[in-house]
Amino acid sequence: LEPAYQFMLRVVTPGGVATPEQWLEIDKLAQKFGNGTIKLTTRQAFQLHGVLKWNLKQTIRQVNEAMLTTLAACGDVNRNVMCNPNPEQSDVHEEVHKWAKELTTHLAPKTPAYHEIWLDGEKLDKNLKIKPKGEAGAKAAKVSAAAHDKAGKHGAATAVAEAPVNGADPVEPMYGPVYLPRKFKIGIAVPPSNDIDVYSQDLGYIAIVEKGKLVGFNVTVGGGMGMTHGDTSTYPQLGRLIGFCKPDQILELAEKTITIQRDYGNRSVRKNARFKYTIDRHGLEWFVSELHERLGWELAPARPFTFERSGDTYGWSKNKNGKWNFTMYINSGRVVDTEGNMLMTGLREIAKIHTGDFRLSANQNLVLGNISAQKKKQVAALLEQYGISEGSHHSAIRRSALSCVALPTCGLAMAEAERYLPTLLGKLEPVLEEAGLRDEEINIRMTGCPNGCARPALGEIAFIGKSPGKYNMYMGAGFSGDRLSKLYRENIGETEIIDTLKPILHHYASEREQNEHFGDFVIRAGYVKAVASGLDFHS
Ligand code: SF4
Repeated sequence: LEPAYQFMLRVVTPGGVATPEQWLEIDKLAQKFGNGTIKLTTRQAFQLHGVLKWNLKQTIRQVNEAMLTTLAACGDVNRNVMCNPNPEQSDVHEEVHKWAKELTTHLAPKTPAYHEIWLDGEKLDKNLKIKPKGEAGAKAAKVSAAAHDKAGKHGAATAVAEAPVNGADPVEPMYGPVYLPRKFKIGIAVPPSNDIDVYSQDLGYIAIVEKGKLVGFNVTVGGGMGMTHGDTSTYPQLGRLIGFCKPDQILELAEKTITIQRDYGNRSVRKNARFKYTIDRHGLEWFVSELHERLGWELAPARPFTFERSGDTYGWSKNKNGKWNFTMYINSGRVVDTEGNMLMTGLREIAKIHTGDFRLSANQNLVLGNISAQKKKQVAALLEQYGISEGSHHSAIRRSALSCVALPTCGLAMAEAERYLPTLLGKLEPVLEEAGLRDEEINIRMTGCPNGCARPALGEIAFIGKSPGKYNMYMGAGFSGDRLSKLYRENIGETEIIDTLKPILHHYASEREQNEHFGDFVIRAGYVKAVASGLDFHS
């Protein structure tokens, strides 16, 4: 008898956009093969939890039949490309989202192994170029590996790309035979919103919109959230701005950036393998010069932009084309029916009549996008019937909260996050109420370990799990995601957390300047030092 091993399945949704039909399929799979819930992740992907091993193949097959995929949702490759769901600027969103999809397709692994293993070799996604099986394919793979080894670090991309045999392409012309040293993350922000936390991405694009038109993207490189407790050679880092490129240059720029990380990333020490360490080891100047050399053209100077926030704005908004969007708060991104809130059932009923899209936000919330004027009344009635609201009855801190999955399903978790954060918030809310801060947005984030899936180093208040019930507490990140937080208390439990935060929140309430955010205040008041670079995170 085999034990009932269970798995988590992550489904790639570029920019977090899914059709109503895809939503219904994910919902069906969650009920049939998962634990009856859908998790909306901090990278705008779907997660299904509790899928038993013997149901994996069928589940993955059905995901693909819905024109979604689990390919490259995990692994040392480019992950789900994030993009602002942007209900307020629908025309720009459409264009930017198109680029998120193109990046995803362009950077997807080309190996046919996924399809052979999970889909019986069938080609279901026309965008994934499946190589023919047989001798030619095997020979190409061998030559690709040999060319990569021979080329060594520098120039491997060219060598692999220029080594066709008998007309067959190498299997992985960009990744090469051993893929990347670590995962790689890309996100596209649309100012003034930095909801996708562009500075946390390995490669970030900031849309530059002039006279209502997308003219290109500023580029950031070398951001990342993960670290290891007690190891100062690891740290969260902010992406750095290196210039501007036109829209049709972003695919090539991403590809060349990835090949630099492929060739120079640390393959000996996995915890130092992320792209941020490659840049910090060699220097930003080196990277830009290497990038320009591989591109054969140079980035233009970065263009002006301003970020105002990193959270979501809730409720109804209207597109220029007359269609509507509705952004709703979802507690920790967990779509589930609970007593008094039939969220999962309600969304299922909406998906049956909705003709627009479902957009997963980078803050684990959900946008019902492109609701036609004719359907708006019907959608609003269903939202009311199932007790689904934009969340205005919640405190601002709760609506600005992010948490990772952590226990019981994440094997790396040292402490609770998703299951505990609502309890902690419930204890902080009376303090905020008393201080007159109920409606003050303060970004608060919690993760069960320092891998940083909920981007805690960009939380104005953050908790990173150390052991069951104990957290390191950080403060001082920028409200718009442009500054890192700093360690304030180590290894503290609930009582100490409340006792520590209570006087600081009252201090903030009484002495903050006009429009001063909590993260800025704790620096001005001297609680923590400002951290503008990960290299200063531990100092
Ligand atoms: Fe990510 Fe760590 Fe949270 Fe697991 S416990 S989801 S690895 S941050």
